[in-house]
Amino acid sequence: MLYNQPSPLEVKVLTRRFGLPDSQSLDTYLATEGFQGFRRALEMKPEEIIGEVMASNLRGRGGAGFPAGMKWSFVPRASSKPKYIVVNGDEGEPGTCKDRLLIENDPHQLIEGMLIAALAVGAAAGYIYIRGEYRRLIEIMDRAIAEAYRKGYLGENILGSGLRFDVYTHSGAGSYECGEESALLESLEGRRGVPRIRPPFPAVAGAFQCPTVLNNVETLCAVPAILRDGGAAFAALGTPKNGGTRLFCLSGHINKPGVYELPMGFNLLRMIDEVGGGVWKGKKLKAVIPGGSSCPILKASECDLAMDFDTVAKARSMLGSGGVVVLDEDTSIVSLATRVMRFYQHESCGWCVPCREGTTWLRKLLERFHAGHGTLADIDLMGDLARNMLGRTFCPLGDAAAMPMISYVEKFRGEFEEYLNRTPGGPLGRVTIDG
Ligand code: SF4
Repeated sequence: MLYNQPSPLEVKVLTRRFGLPDSQSLDTYLATEGFQGFRRALEMKPEEIIGEVMASNLRGRGGAGFPAGMKWSFVPRASSKPKYIVVNGDEGEPGTCKDRLLIENDPHQLIEGMLIAALAVGAAAGYIYIRGEYRRLIEIMDRAIAEAYRKGYLGENILGSGLRFDVYTHSGAGSYECGEESALLESLEGRRGVPRIRPPFPAVAGAFQCPTVLNNVETLCAVPAILRDGGAAFAALGTPKNGGTRLFCLSGHINKPGVYELPMGFNLLRMIDEVGGGVWKGKKLKAVIPGGSSCPILKASECDLAMDFDTVAKARSMLGSGGVVVLDEDTSIVSLATRVMRFYQHESCGWCVPCREGTTWLRKLLERFHAGHGTLADIDLMGDLARNMLGRTFCPLGDAAAMPMISYVEKFRGEFEEYLNRTPGGPLGRVTIDG
């Protein structure tokens, strides 16, 4: 279950039980301060729980980075409708694989986070939407849920508090789009996973049109420690407005790929060199995708920066879902762009024209260019097409496809031009996508 050796530079809050024997069991969880945050929350008023989460500066770990406490505060307490906690465990962003480890190594931490959220907003049921390919994780989560029911941590009158809370797992539908919160809710309710018109937002009309807290797995897994040790202690681990730690998924051309829990604001170059053991095969760093494939690329010269939401945004990229993809000096940006656009075109749900047509045109253009049949005008056309998609689509997938494309052309235009010179009218397949 533990996929990489820990680094001595890690600050283990959410991953503290990773590697413990029997870390999935409730006994192990209880022996390591499990449910202490929930016990403290039981003695607090809902607004005090939300205040503690706000004080922690916890921001959503799914990608958007929205303050979690504020999101909870939007749920109308006076509503007569049932309220729900929905966990986004779809984890479809290429380069990201941390929610999987959190569920695999410590499922009760997620249950405790859901219970605290339920106390904060008055919810009586929760759903954990898990990526369909993560079949084994659904079994692990179901076993943990059953154990929590048996031992009085779920169901009726939890720990004698009078609270009732039920939890269900739901298998994802195998689509990137189902990671978008409103499409996830459609899928959860048994329909095709396409986004909903918003407003209303899920806090007001979410699952079954009822008030809903919808958080990523990692976000909710941070909540037990926040309630146990206090929001201020969690906030102090990170940078201003970016509290706590974050699970960074280091992959690509790196010596020690893996998932590492580091303080928010950890320097990206240090992460690559000191945590990840440096770029593989003694090669030089060319670029980094800092938060999953939808994030604009950073050139090596832009990588000396603190990995928090605000600093990465200032560098005109995004911290995203924590998927840090390292690219060595031999990486072909043309190949990378072609591969990324194939993914987004395949995953476009087709609901709106700019995304459906834009990703298709870009994919075709890139494949032609990649095969050696491109022109100089194609490079401008790629940038124009992507800029015309930006901000004009129904859900963020359109932007997710456009933003990296714009950055590839802007930052590596010379490489696109050089590619033309190397492959003038070349035969199809001259340079492989994986090359
Ligand atoms: Fe579907 Fe793309 Fe439009 Fe999102 S942006 S609704 S994925 S077509």
